[in-house]
Amino acid sequence: MPLGIDVGGTFIKLFDGKRREKIRTPQGYTELLESLINIIGEEERVTVAVAGLVIEKEGIIEESPNLPFLRGKELRRDLERKSGARVRLVNDATAAAYGEFVEGSGRNSELFICLTLGTRLGGGAVINGKPLEGVKRVAMEVGHTTICLNGWPCHCGRRGCLEAYASSYGLERHYFLLTGKQKSSFEIIEEARKGKEGALGALKELSKYLSVGITNLLHTFNPDRLALSGGIVANFPEIVDWCKEEIERRSFKPTLSGFKLVNTELGEFSGAIGAFFFPY
Ligand SMILES: [Zn+2]
Repeated sequence: MPLGIDVGGTFIKLFDGKRREKIRTPQGYTELLESLINIIGEEERVTVAVAGLVIEKEGIIEESPNLPFLRGKELRRDLERKSGARVRLVNDATAAAYGEFVEGSGRNSELFICLTLGTRLGGGAVINGKPLEGVKRVAMEVGHTTICLNGWPCHCGRRGCLEAYASSYGLERHYFLLTGKQKSSFEIIEEARKGKEGALGALKELSKYLSVGITNLLHTFNPDRLALSGGIVANFPEIVDWCKEEIERRSFKPTLSGFKLVNTELGEFSGAIGAFFFPY
């Protein structure tokens, strides 16, 4: 098994089958390379999960909203040259979905989808035990499917993406629209936990848009399970029940039979675990 590494915007996480470790992500390409080479050490095979669009055949990171300095970089080539290991790059949300499929909320699922709500909205799918990557390995960019023509601006530069409504910054916008006040998603969730109306309303709005996105996935893939993860869901789990109600109202009934909406189980190491188990 290769070493599994997950390079996120804030932390690098690794999993080697037993050991789980987490270090801060250096903010610069040279510094990141150095840090990854230290982690790789004498390992011969490494799978690196990265946030962003990864063109695996060429080993190039096409776009990475959370790690902008990775854009256009040949991360695989540079890592292989400096470490001597065989390196493979995968999308972090796909790796997270695969980790959950192997060891967490997706066990024994036939068609499993996993969404991560944070500063962005990532998606991954595992179909009959295989991660769905697409021809250029950029499938399941669920966060950037359009749900509103000419809608709110998204971090990707387009308008009306699901992420613009269902992410931490989407939550901040819903809250601002309802209350006229600017607060961080963290503060909004705190307020909601105390039962404050504006915060609860903002989370309700977010759950409606998220449910539209999930219903689109039900109608497209007909999955048997969809897991939600990320800080918003972890700190305000009621959102899963709200989504269930909304999805029931919107979906074709046959897509709901045998379907379960669940919370993820592996927490922040799902990407590193998925990278470790990722099939060659
Ligand atoms: Zn977008």
